[in-house]
Amino acid sequence: MLRVAVVGSGPSGCYTAQQLVQQDPEVRVDVLDRLPCPYGLVRYGVAPDHEKIKSLQASLRTVLEHERVRFLGGVRVGGPGGVPVKVLRGLYDAVVYCVGAATDRHLGIPGEELPGCWSATEFVAWYSAHPDAADAGFLRDVRSAVVIGAGNVAVDVTRMLMRGAAELRPTDMPQGALDTLAESGVGEVRMVARRGPAQARFTTKELRELGTLPGTQVLVEPGDLALDPAGPETLPAVQRRNLEVLRGWAEQPPSGIDRHIRLRFFLRPVELLADGGRVGAVRFERTAPDGRGGVTGTGRYEEVPAQLVLRSVGYRGVPLEGLPFDEASGTVPHLAGRVVRDGVASPGEYVAGWIKRGPSGVIGTNRPCAKETVASLLADASEPARSDVPEDAVPALLAAGIEPVVWDGWLAIERAEAELGARLGRGVVKLADWDTLLAVARSSQPPSQPRP
Ligand code: NAP
Repeated sequence: MLRVAVVGSGPSGCYTAQQLVQQDPEVRVDVLDRLPCPYGLVRYGVAPDHEKIKSLQASLRTVLEHERVRFLGGVRVGGPGGVPVKVLRGLYDAVVYCVGAATDRHLGIPGEELPGCWSATEFVAWYSAHPDAADAGFLRDVRSAVVIGAGNVAVDVTRMLMRGAAELRPTDMPQGALDTLAESGVGEVRMVARRGPAQARFTTKELRELGTLPGTQVLVEPGDLALDPAGPETLPAVQRRNLEVLRGWAEQPPSGIDRHIRLRFFLRPVELLADGGRVGAVRFERTAPDGRGGVTGTGRYEEVPAQLVLRSVGYRGVPLEGLPFDEASGTVPHLAGRVVRDGVASPGEYVAGWIKRGPSGVIGTNRPCAKETVASLLADASEPARSDVPEDAVPALLAAGIEPVVWDGWLAIERAEAELGARLGRGVVKLADWDTLLAVARSSQPPSQPRP
């Protein structure tokens, strides 16, 4: 019987576990996560007001509750205090790394380090109650914000900045973030793209949603739309629909509403300017289409005031000690999901999800990605089985001082979050710090007895 470890319990990890149990009637799968909570970016990345996407947790849950799948939270792989990759490899017949893209890309421009400039990932982690996130005072004295980038994460953070208390209250957002966002004085958010509307990465449904926020008007400069030389008929469907939505907003008469989302295009950030020791404005260079989908600088500059700047220019994978890593793409080199070391596929080591293909695509993209990896794994597994794999990896983890949080521990966290919400007169409210999460999880399982 095959024993497989899947590292990461986000969508790619869960879909990998699902494919394994569907395709092999005997396999046993341990899904490891460094956090005590499962679901990865579905819990810590999908915006709190996107209940429908969040409800995907229900289907991921059925995977983690499968009789041949076991969730082992609180287990770090690699790095200080973590289980070394080599050790983990010895505990299982195969290991599939589904560790995502854990950091964000930088702009590489002067002033990026100023207080008041954050990555969208840091902001998202804070309002999503990620236990590594802290309230960095994101919204202190902020009247206008700039979001740099034109992907769906940029749309998410723009929307969250403009949502009111009534809309945030039903979400599972931690109380501190809810209070801060509800009381914020942000009256204007500019979402700024370096290329044109036809090259923006956001999807139409997400774009349209910006126009549905109560008490907020979306403004688009007609000149930004006219700049793009490509006729709509030459564009793929998503971009064509995006342009239609943007044109509709550009043609709207002024409404008298004083809270605005301004969507700007053809502006490349060149510097963040300080004001009183923190960011006060962003200097952009106006760009122009180069006819090949890219842009060139025009030598004309524009300064936009902002006390908060969120760079939302994409995620990036981080190297996992002991695994090969391609710096250029931020991914682990692979062949159909098989980790490639020194040019050859390494037996028993696999990748799926963003660490395999880079940070793109929607949650569903992870299904075919996991399927390909699992096909490779099961094809390789027909080779002679290893005899040195222990029946259960947990005793070795315990011996190494790592006490996993099992499914009962996670269920205790779920109950505590429902109780907290009830006390606050809300629905479920997420717990946001390591100590509380671990104390609640451990209260449900006797020490050193992780198998229920
Ligand atoms: P993304 O889609 O790759 O968008 C990144 C944006 O940053 C692009 O507009 C890019 O512009 C811009 N950018 C990159 N480098 C820049 C620079 N140096 N200066 C200025 N702009 C720069 O990334 P994302 O928004 O982080 O999303 C990641 C993935 O998650 C995507 O597949 C997204 O669809 C998905 N996601 C989906 C949802 C949803 O379905 N609701 C929600 C969130 C995220 P260029 O195009 O010019 O490079």
